[in-house]
Amino acid sequence: MNIILLGPPGAGKGTQAQRLVERHGMRQLSTGDMLRAAVKAGTPTGLEAKAVMERGELVSDAIVSALIGDELDAMGADTGAIFDGYPRTEAQARSLDEILAARGRKLDHVIELGVDEDALVERITGRYTCATCGKGYHDTFEQPKVPGTCDKCGGTEFKRRPDDNAETVRTRMAEYRAKTAPILPFYEAQGIVSKVDGMAEMDAVTDALESILAN
Ligand code: AMP
Repeated sequence: MNIILLGPPGAGKGTQAQRLVERHGMRQLSTGDMLRAAVKAGTPTGLEAKAVMERGELVSDAIVSALIGDELDAMGADTGAIFDGYPRTEAQARSLDEILAARGRKLDHVIELGVDEDALVERITGRYTCATCGKGYHDTFEQPKVPGTCDKCGGTEFKRRPDDNAETVRTRMAEYRAKTAPILPFYEAQGIVSKVDGMAEMDAVTDALESILAN
């Protein structure tokens, strides 16, 4: 199964993708994570993407589509893919169709996580992750049970994304509205779009996703 999780930054795409990975052995393909890894490793792609990401703008379609193609080639043909943060433009949506077709795959579901934009700024600016295992936390909504110690792995280092500040978040949302939301009709025409309330409790969102995948 191949699915896209679509929604503005902070809608919960990454969290929900991780849950589906744990439950179904699918693979999360997050272009944001791939780009952050490239920036950290100082690859040519990372050097090109760094400043663009810090401004909250979109990196080029060619770069992200190449990353996605490489990741798909590196995974088993039977492993399901969850696209998280990709595609983000109509050109990327068209590339993805070609990338999938060339590998004998097709999209089963595009799931839009609907959210209230004002609440997103609070969600995003408060979030941080364990530097060791990547588990997500939040200043207001989810602190570790023992302060300063990761619930999952016991790690004591945490990190925040440099683009999770209020100003950059506004730019990222504007990019979503202008370039990503308009790709929905492309998928609606294929009859594969479902909408889920991304403001609901995390478990309720997961249940809603599961029932879509079961159909
Ligand atoms: P994310 O982790 O999905 O919020 O992505 C973080 C940043 O990486 C975005 O603000 C963009 O600068 C860049 N990025 C991630 N995915 C894409 C994509 N599919 N197309 C263009 N830029 C992307």
